[in-house]
Amino acid sequence: MPSTIRRRLDADQPTLSLEFYPPKTAAGQRSLWETVCDLEDLAPDFVSITYGAAGSTRDRTLDLVRRIRSETSLRPVMHLTCVGSTRDELAATAAELLDAGITDVLALRGDPPGGPGAEWEATAGGFRYAAELVELLAGLGAFAVGVAAFPEGHPESPSMTDDVRHLAAKCAAGAEYAITQFFFDAKQYTAFVEELRAVGCATPVVPGLLPVTNPAQTRRFAAKAGASFPPELDAAFQEVEHDPDAVYEFGVDQAVRLAEDLLAAGAPGLHFYTLNRVAATRDVCTRLRRASVWRTPPGDASA
Ligand SMILES: Cc1cc2nc3c(=O)[nH]c(=O)nc-3n(C[C@H](O)[C@H](O)[C@H](O)COP(=O)(O)OP(=O)(O)OC[C@H]3O[C@@H](n4cnc5c(N)ncnc54)[C@H](O)[C@@H]3O)c2cc1C
Repeated sequence: MPSTIRRRLDADQPTLSLEFYPPKTAAGQRSLWETVCDLEDLAPDFVSITYGAAGSTRDRTLDLVRRIRSETSLRPVMHLTCVGSTRDELAATAAELLDAGITDVLALRGDPPGGPGAEWEATAGGFRYAAELVELLAGLGAFAVGVAAFPEGHPESPSMTDDVRHLAAKCAAGAEYAITQFFFDAKQYTAFVEELRAVGCATPVVPGLLPVTNPAQTRRFAAKAGASFPPELDAAFQEVEHDPDAVYEFGVDQAVRLAEDLLAAGAPGLHFYTLNRVAATRDVCTRLRRASVWRTPPGDASA
């Protein structure tokens, strides 16, 4: 039986999901918790919580996911990576998640401990690729597993064809949906999904959107993630960069246009990289609703 997330992705209404990271400081944690508790108007289908580089946030990620599950009506998805863990340790984490009633996991390989661009080396006794983690989790029969996808190709991939084939393998291993890296051109998403369909993989691919409110930070993120920040878009941001309000307005405008194009192209949902600030995501959703191209919040986000 498909999971709740998969059923929602297969339904007519596009889903909404938001990504957060577990803050390091007590002040950051308090502020994020206020944000999380104030999401009713958005009623996301799920919220996903990242797992820090080299597993550095394991306990904070797990604590936040647990708290969201027990104290709110939101559906948390826990990111889990293979970095720094053996197969047995990942199996133990999976058991811990099930004990806590957490069954939604985004299964990732993770970036090399040396950072994106460094050579990837699997932990001794651990996994080499995310597909192996998908297989472990899906094999337990209790998890709803999602995976990462890269519309511009994963930076380590020799070709898009290889990357699409490896994504299809993750889906064949049991992933029910994929969420993409952020990108700024809807054509990249449609071309990518077409390639995936062409290799016989029908898994829903949720586009990831990063509303730009800080162009300098976006340039850094894009360079780190191997994603492109298109030069014409970058130039348009540079024209308004002296004025934070104008940057914000332009960033929301650009995200609305991208979201409209993606929904028109049949995207099954929208996943927002919030960087723990939801104002821009909220404004994008409000604008999409006003333009009648977006869902009204479902009554019960936990159903
Ligand atoms: C939505 C999303 C959320 C993310 N969240 C986090 C997070 O919380 N924490 C974190 O550390 N990172 C996160 N990342 C980053 C991700 O971990 C890195 O981009 C990582 O480098 C790739 O992870 P993956 O799961 O796609 O790996 P994989 O699917 O294993 O792919 C990694 C590379 O190996 C190739 N490959 C796969 N299988 C094979 C094979 N059989 N033979 C040869 N090559 C193969 C792929 O084409 C790709 O180039 C996220 C990325 C996305 C898009």
